[in-house]
Amino acid sequence: MILFEKALECINLNLPKRKFVSCKITEIIDGILAEDIYAPISLPPFRQSAMDGYAFKYSGNKTLKVIGEVRAGEFFNPSLNNNEAVRIFTGARVPDEANTVVIQEHVERNLNEITIAKIPEKGDNVRDVGEQIKKGDLALKKGNVLNSASIGYLANFGIENVPIYRAPKVSVIGTGDELVALGNQLEEGKIYDSNTLMLQSVLKKNGVETVSVTKAVDTLEDVTREINKALEISDLILISGGISVGDYDFVRQALIDIGVEELFYKVNQRPGKPLWFGKKEDKLVVALPGNPASSLSCFLVYVLPIIRHLRGLEFNHNIQNAKFEGSFQNKTGKQLFLKAEQKDGKISLLSHQASSMLHSFALSNALLLVSPSITELKSGDIVPYINIANDL
Ligand code: AMP
Ligand code: MG
Repeated sequence: MILFEKALECINLNLPKRKFVSCKITEIIDGILAEDIYAPISLPPFRQSAMDGYAFKYSGNKTLKVIGEVRAGEFFNPSLNNNEAVRIFTGARVPDEANTVVIQEHVERNLNEITIAKIPEKGDNVRDVGEQIKKGDLALKKGNVLNSASIGYLANFGIENVPIYRAPKVSVIGTGDELVALGNQLEEGKIYDSNTLMLQSVLKKNGVETVSVTKAVDTLEDVTREINKALEISDLILISGGISVGDYDFVRQALIDIGVEELFYKVNQRPGKPLWFGKKEDKLVVALPGNPASSLSCFLVYVLPIIRHLRGLEFNHNIQNAKFEGSFQNKTGKQLFLKAEQKDGKISLLSHQASSMLHSFALSNALLLVSPSITELKSGDIVPYINIANDL
């Protein structure tokens, strides 16, 4: 049995290399940029008018003759004398010989002549080439979360594809003779399978499309077959149940037989003591306890950081502190992860913490962390918790 921190450290030390793929920017949702992107063109690529008005060569002349018009998207580049101007609109290319744009509200127009009522500063209302970024400069750093703004920014450059970290391919295997899939009659002694659906859902919420979800009955053959199939198609395999010490728990035996290297088994924690972690080449296997709340707790604490890493984020949790309300005793000597509700800097425990119960999880937005050495919590204590509000 190992300590929670050691278990996390062990996972961290055995993380496989991130993989990346080239992705169309139109298909990216929260992808993470896997390489630095340098500007292939300057932005703006030409001198642009920032306003609707008149472009002219600054000389102090206030009365100018309008010799033409340039609209956004057009190329019109006449020579200009000191007493000449062109009508221009926002986004249009400023003729090379003009250096200033006066906004139309500050001009009186009479046929083809304008009189500037309020003279701008030289250079006003002209966006210079490369004002935002120059060709060749670093446009976006590796690690940038490609949100809608980043997608728009990349499109500005005409970039169609970018390398992003590939989310892991994950398989989920639910084990147990008692499990019944939704839509089927529940016979006496059976229960509906909640874990595979719950894991699929939390994976999806965290940017992972599960590549397979299968069931195994409690035989060594069936469990072995499902693990072997999953190893062929996935980077990460999550197994639920069958990892405890009962006569019909075959997951550990199957993993060892298949040659998945055991890196740890059993963590000094509640919930989720029978947690198993191993690897085969660059594939990771996490066998989660079957009790639904243990399964989810172990997923959030151990599996989510793996997924975050593989997606290009940090291997970490969103740990925060809050003021505890209530009283609590820890006589277990174990690391505890308690379903809690945090609001406005305060945190309180939800009732029904048992590892078989999901109701409190469904109401919680925090996992309160209690170290094995902490025996008691009192109102006013500052306590750490994992903020899970955005994870579930
Ligand atoms: P096990 O670790 O296989 O002994 O399972 C521990 C407990 O979790 C038992 O009460 C199982 O019935 C329950 N359990 C295991 N797998 C699931 C599942 N997929 N959905 C709901 N409950 C499960
Ligand atoms: Mg079982």
